[in-house]
Amino acid sequence: MPRTAAQDARATYERVWKIVSRGLPEVPIILAALIYTHANWLQHLVAPLAPFYPYAAVGAGVLIGWRFHRSRLLFALLLLTLADRTVLHFAVTQGLTRDRVVLQAIGALLPLNLAALSLSAERGVLTPPGLARFAFILGQLTLVVILDREAPGPTAALLHAQLLPQWLFAWSALADPALLAFVVAAGLVVAGQLMSPTQTGRSFAWALIPTFMGLSVVRPGNPGFSTFYLATAALILIVSVVEASYHMAYQDSLTGLPARRALNEALLRLGGHYTVAMLDVDHFKRINDRHGHDVGDQVLKMVAAKLAQVGGGGRAYRYGGEEFAVIFAGRSADQCLPDVEKLRQEVEETRFILRSRFRSKKRKEKVLTDRGPGERVPVTISIGVAEQNERHTKWDQVVKAADRALYRAKEGGRNQVQM
Ligand code: GH3
Ligand code: MG
Ligand code: MG
Repeated sequence: MPRTAAQDARATYERVWKIVSRGLPEVPIILAALIYTHANWLQHLVAPLAPFYPYAAVGAGVLIGWRFHRSRLLFALLLLTLADRTVLHFAVTQGLTRDRVVLQAIGALLPLNLAALSLSAERGVLTPPGLARFAFILGQLTLVVILDREAPGPTAALLHAQLLPQWLFAWSALADPALLAFVVAAGLVVAGQLMSPTQTGRSFAWALIPTFMGLSVVRPGNPGFSTFYLATAALILIVSVVEASYHMAYQDSLTGLPARRALNEALLRLGGHYTVAMLDVDHFKRINDRHGHDVGDQVLKMVAAKLAQVGGGGRAYRYGGEEFAVIFAGRSADQCLPDVEKLRQEVEETRFILRSRFRSKKRKEKVLTDRGPGERVPVTISIGVAEQNERHTKWDQVVKAADRALYRAKEGGRNQVQM
């Protein structure tokens, strides 16, 4: 069926919104940091609180990293804290200047370490890989301090090599090798994101911005907003862990649809008139038994993808197992029926094609697609619809009524809508 212009516009809008909203928690944090560092009145306003900010951020981060078992957050906090304390120490005691090895070496190593963390897996802290990471970080710091003191000549020349046009980052305290390290780190993190996007990886990409600012603003004898920016990088990483945990609780990891918990809360928030559709895949056990659990999972994913596109303003949820729910806020059952019926029809008409992919002699993987030749797996769904009315005033009554309608749809021979 050809898509209408309105459908195309809505799809584009949803895609753009997805990209914008994915960057949302980081963007306001960075904007707030930029405003703060440029607004004197704001700095005066929060002056008594400002010294506590880095301690509060790192303290909260350590607590969250420890309780949520997020070793990468803990190591990132360690890196940022060590960089900050070292820069601060040298700035205050020795008037850290741009030509010092310690500043440029930290400028080069910090982004690369953060990028490496973003690309690696959670490995724990008090585990052999965790302890190795710990030793590696401390080893680098020791090396930097020793190099700064003992071998300034060649190391300094290397770290101050002129590689970029001078006007480009003249305002930054970082020399070109450190600047390039940031570019390489950003490239690595973004490439990792393109290959397998994760919340944590994304936050590391954003955190590189305040990290860069933090090391750029150091002036001789004056660390400036260095600590503030590095604490802001920590804050971005912390917020992303909290956000990722929220998503884990509210989003179904297999289908990407909002999960039961989200459905319950959405039902509680609903005011006025609404309709609930309960959906169940027909003979799903048979699909599992015939083709294996993996293919069953792929069927659920494809059905969920159809549900996510349901018209009429419906919002789809995974209720559990092979059962789904769709809420139509502000609409009666009669109004929703065409959309629900269209959904049933679309699932029925989708060609779920099973293919075997040979990767190695031993491993045969079954892949489900919607085009090309192969064994067709028939998939249908049964749907029960109920609306909020005088008889069913509370949400649990509406859901129960939809469930009863679903039961009738099953009894009536499946692959149908009942209300
Ligand atoms: P009916 O038409 O009456 O709904 O038959 P059915 O076989 O679909 O019904 P039933 O509810 O008995 O079977 C549901 C099966 O779904 C049982 C369970 O093993 C399977 N299942 C539940 N969750 C998942 C999942 O996440 N992945 C896969 N592959 N199977 C699941
Ligand atoms: Mg079921
Ligand atoms: Mg079923």
